[in-house]
Amino acid sequence: MRLILLGAPGAGKGTVAKMLTAIDGSVQISTGDILRAAVKDGTDLGKQAKAYMDAGDLVPDELIMGIMKARLKGDDCQAGFLLDGFPRTIPQAEQLKDLLADLGITLQAAVNLDVPRDVILDRLTTRRTCVDCGAIYNVKSMPTKVEGVCDKCGGKVVQRDDETEEAISNRLDVYNQKTAPLADFYRGEGLLLDVNATSSDSVVASIRGHVGA
Ligand code: ADP
Ligand code: ZN
Repeated sequence: MRLILLGAPGAGKGTVAKMLTAIDGSVQISTGDILRAAVKDGTDLGKQAKAYMDAGDLVPDELIMGIMKARLKGDDCQAGFLLDGFPRTIPQAEQLKDLLADLGITLQAAVNLDVPRDVILDRLTTRRTCVDCGAIYNVKSMPTKVEGVCDKCGGKVVQRDDETEEAISNRLDVYNQKTAPLADFYRGEGLLLDVNATSSDSVVASIRGHVGA
């Protein structure tokens, strides 16, 4: 599959992407995961990105495009890719369009995961993430077996630095201003697939039906 996953923070892009990779070997490419790994490793990219991320602001387009230009050339992308958290702005979407044209890759769809705001807020405040493998848990609906320890890799499971109430509220504002307009962009490209994302299972079923996977 060659898809873009759009949707507010907490809409379930990461969860859906992980479910889809299991179907056909497509790779999940999450700019948020790439950036968090860079912050953790203390690379130059991580140092440049950290303050934006902690505040819930977007990292500058140039940094993101640098990451994605290199990433989409990876051999593993031949099997397909699920873009999770990218593009996030109209300039990113325009540059992605040029980049894919250069690489001779066509997208199948830009899937817009639609979830009511109260559900989003509840999900984000109860979400926990493994610092080592990125696995996502939820203190209410999907707790770890042992508190604070990842079931999959034994890593530490924590609340992200940008999951304070203030940063969450800023991330939602940034989403509405900068990222929500991408739905119209992709509708114009004839690629938009709108799905009700209250349940991740039904999102996966809709996507499979749409792309025939
Ligand atoms: P969310 O759960 O909010 O969707 P992500 O894990 O996708 O979060 O991203 C976390 C943070 O990383 C964002 O708040 C932003 O600072 C930065 N980031 C991730 N992807 C992008 C992008 N495509 N453009 C700019 N900033 C990004
Ligand atoms: Zn883990």
